[in-house]
Amino acid sequence: MLIGGEWTAALSGEVFETQNPYTGKTWALIPRGGEADVDRAVEAAHAAFNGAAWRSINATGRGALLRKLGDALADHAERLAHIEVRDNGKLLTEMLGQTNYMRQWYYYFGGLADKVEGAVLPIDKPGNFTYIRHEPIGVVGAIIPWNSPLFLTAWKLAPALAAGNTVVVKPSEFTSASMLEFARIFESVGFPPGVLNVVTGFGAEVGQRLVEHPLVSKIAFTGSETTGKRIYQAAAATLKRVTLELGGKSANIVLADANLDNAVKGVVSGIFAASGQTCIAGSRLLVDRRIHDEFIGRLVAFARTAALGDPMLPTTQVGPVTTKPQLEKVLSYLEIARSEGAEAVLGGRQPSDPELSGGWFVEPTIFTGVNNTMRIAREEIFGPVLSVIPFEDEDEAVSIANDSPYGLGAGLWTESISKAHTLPNRLQTGMVWVNTYRATSYMAPFGGYKQSGIGRESGQEAIKEYLQTKTVWISTETEVPNPFVMR
Ligand code: NAD
Repeated sequence: MLIGGEWTAALSGEVFETQNPYTGKTWALIPRGGEADVDRAVEAAHAAFNGAAWRSINATGRGALLRKLGDALADHAERLAHIEVRDNGKLLTEMLGQTNYMRQWYYYFGGLADKVEGAVLPIDKPGNFTYIRHEPIGVVGAIIPWNSPLFLTAWKLAPALAAGNTVVVKPSEFTSASMLEFARIFESVGFPPGVLNVVTGFGAEVGQRLVEHPLVSKIAFTGSETTGKRIYQAAAATLKRVTLELGGKSANIVLADANLDNAVKGVVSGIFAASGQTCIAGSRLLVDRRIHDEFIGRLVAFARTAALGDPMLPTTQVGPVTTKPQLEKVLSYLEIARSEGAEAVLGGRQPSDPELSGGWFVEPTIFTGVNNTMRIAREEIFGPVLSVIPFEDEDEAVSIANDSPYGLGAGLWTESISKAHTLPNRLQTGMVWVNTYRATSYMAPFGGYKQSGIGRESGQEAIKEYLQTKTVWISTETEVPNPFVMR
């Protein structure tokens, strides 16, 4: 682990195993950090935050370091992608896309670092010069899930450092290896010791302590809704700021006038890419009843051809799910779906191919006969399982889409320019994709409405999540006026 610029084992000396989801076999040993390690890391981050080395680097200097980090990541993108695939089983093509693209967050927020401007207020009180400045918050705890480890770290680390904070990262216990490699690259760039610290270990031990530690000023979390709510409650004890990027049950809406070939591809990309393990998975397909049978026929024919296999191979289209508990969770939802009366028109079980027997695979699955009150339509499965719900008209489509505790993303497929512009305004979600799905960018705010989260990542507003505002009043009067009167 990296603490205060030093590579260190856990104080307990313990390690835990991390497995390859394609083979089910252990491939690396990771230090099992504990509360005492978190304390060391937070103290190092706190010392770095207040230390001369980091304080003496101005915003332009921080930007230069972040750009240098982006350059260094370019040289290591392939190696980092290979490590991530071994740990989370997602396709090499997908992880290469992420490890190559993530440097843009460091470039973008590096550029933004010295463009955070304060303001002089046209103050109404005479005899005062009053201005506001934006200051870093302090030590940020970044808690990361297993599905896109380094990509989602970039979303937090880049704005946090651009704003002048210091950071303790806790990767998921299922995917810690790439974070340790990333930390090695980070260290080569020239940031002062303690600006980034990495503590590996379990949520209930390392994560929990990070959230409770009084010297941590903000938690940036991506993960499940259950953990997000627990963190929000625990953070209240010390009134930490939080950003939460949680789950979703996003609707992909296909109108009768859609280009059906494109919509089929968009629906498949929404739910079967990454084996459905993205928070923005389009896990509810809402389709106009008039085209329901034709669309499902085309969708099943296309999805049936998806090649399951070794995520390292460029020909593979669907890999395993990342963790054994996740496999069990997805399989339990297949049973729930059947018991609720849904019909699997594709998949619905584990593949029988003996070549896949070592890995944690689930067949791409499409359930029809679903209504929006069923558990498979309401709860996040986080696997390759699509629930199809027909609608009568656009009003009903909007009402079903919005009838969810979540509000992360939505897809809309239509050839009507007017619907493409009016329907997104009626959807209660943080992102809407029209005739596309899953697009993200460093410049585009990302986050959820309702129980999908709090705050935004990416885009100019993301840096504000890592800043606090100070107002400074300077009297321009030569004499302090009557002290008994409020001014
Ligand atoms: P998780 O909530 O179990 O774990 C996420 C992280 O939190 C891990 O590092 C874990 O160790 C840590 N953690 C667990 N318990 C903790 C506690 N009590 N205190 C502090 N930290 C704790 O989620 P996961 O299983 O790793 O990831 C899958 C989930 O993440 C899915 O439900 C998905 O929807 C969500 N997700 C959301 C987004 C988004 O941007 N909205 C992105 C990716 C994943």
